[in-house]
Amino acid sequence: MATDVLDVIRTKRDGGVLSDEQIRFFVEGYTAGTIADEQAAALCMAILLRDMEAGELATWTRAMIESGERLDLAGVGRPTVDKHSTGGVGDKVSLVLAPLVAACGAAVPQLSGRGLGHTGGTLDKLEAIPGWRAELAVDEVVDQLRDVGAVICAASAALCPADRKLYALRDVTATVEAVPLIASSIMSKKIAEGTGALVLDVKVGSGAFLPDLDRARRLADTMVGLGQAHGVRTVALITDMDAPLGRACGNGLEVDEAVELLRGGGPPDLLEVTLALAREMVALAGLDAGPDPADPAAALDDGRALAVWEAMIRAQGGDLDAGRPMATVHHDVRAPAAGYLRRLDARSVGVAVWRLGAGRSRKEDPVSPTAGAVCLRKPGDRVEAGEPVLTLHADGQDRLDAALAALDGAVEVGDEPPEPRPLVVERIS
Ligand code: URA
Repeated sequence: MATDVLDVIRTKRDGGVLSDEQIRFFVEGYTAGTIADEQAAALCMAILLRDMEAGELATWTRAMIESGERLDLAGVGRPTVDKHSTGGVGDKVSLVLAPLVAACGAAVPQLSGRGLGHTGGTLDKLEAIPGWRAELAVDEVVDQLRDVGAVICAASAALCPADRKLYALRDVTATVEAVPLIASSIMSKKIAEGTGALVLDVKVGSGAFLPDLDRARRLADTMVGLGQAHGVRTVALITDMDAPLGRACGNGLEVDEAVELLRGGGPPDLLEVTLALAREMVALAGLDAGPDPADPAAALDDGRALAVWEAMIRAQGGDLDAGRPMATVHHDVRAPAAGYLRRLDARSVGVAVWRLGAGRSRKEDPVSPTAGAVCLRKPGDRVEAGEPVLTLHADGQDRLDAALAALDGAVEVGDEPPEPRPLVVERIS
């Protein structure tokens, strides 16, 4: 009997299990345009409400991968390992990890996206560097991986076209948050990218996509299972995103802080998360064994990671010597009282930075390379009444009011320091 799209929607709506045939029919039909957006939206909502079983998710993910091309990285001559973050505020770790892990001997193919909503996108950050080019042809990706060891670029439209359509649709139908849809969306792209190993940074806390630990854990478990089922060695770290990571939030500001880290400095929380992820990547790539095991901390200290960064940016046209425009307006957010900074809410800072112009509401919006915020104090620090805690950087006065409104209640000061929160909350393999 021919498969019918209404049967597919009805099956899931009523809590049933989709057959392999139904799933392939749907993913192929939606990619080809024979299934309409409203039908796909109905199915996404049914999946969000009814969930998916492991077998359904495996077939769904495979169908997404098979909707487009797969990269073949066999020719790069080094073990390949990538990292994906579910997105956070001030999360510039990818900028450092790609050259750092390449400096340890791996090839890091980071096919990335642009930011949407309050978390920044890696490509938007790098585009703050004059001349830097995100779009690369497949042979340029392979050549750069062979010659430099690291590439961060836009995923081509030919990779997982089903995900492109579904993600755009989910974004406007309140169906982004479904764990099976997030897991299949992320993992289909990473598997199609051709990496041999993958480390996932699943964020938890107010600035994360999924703020609560149970759902973050479920997402991490699901993605690790999908990776392993497709032959990609996969490990997830669940890391804290209740306060911004590091001090800088906003595209150009984050590039500067990433370079600080690559020069052997940088904020301690950013260093800790970066090294934890780098060590996992190095281990998955098999570079942590033998008489001379790779040591990411040493590669930061002795300038090898910085040298790969410079080669990686220059290979994509970036001019590291060109001056960048600076924000014209600065505004300090001050401590309401003396005491300990108990909270600097990541989501509020992310929304403020987004409203300052660092992020976009629609995918075609431009982003500002200069707008952002710098956290002068972090939770646990002592502050005096009226002392600046956060400096906002803006391109004009007009966006400040909306950004300040987002920060209402974001800074909490009390007599006692907050309970220390571990940065790496859990490891799932
Ligand atoms: N990032 C993705 O690529 N897909 C999702 O569904 C969510 C975050």
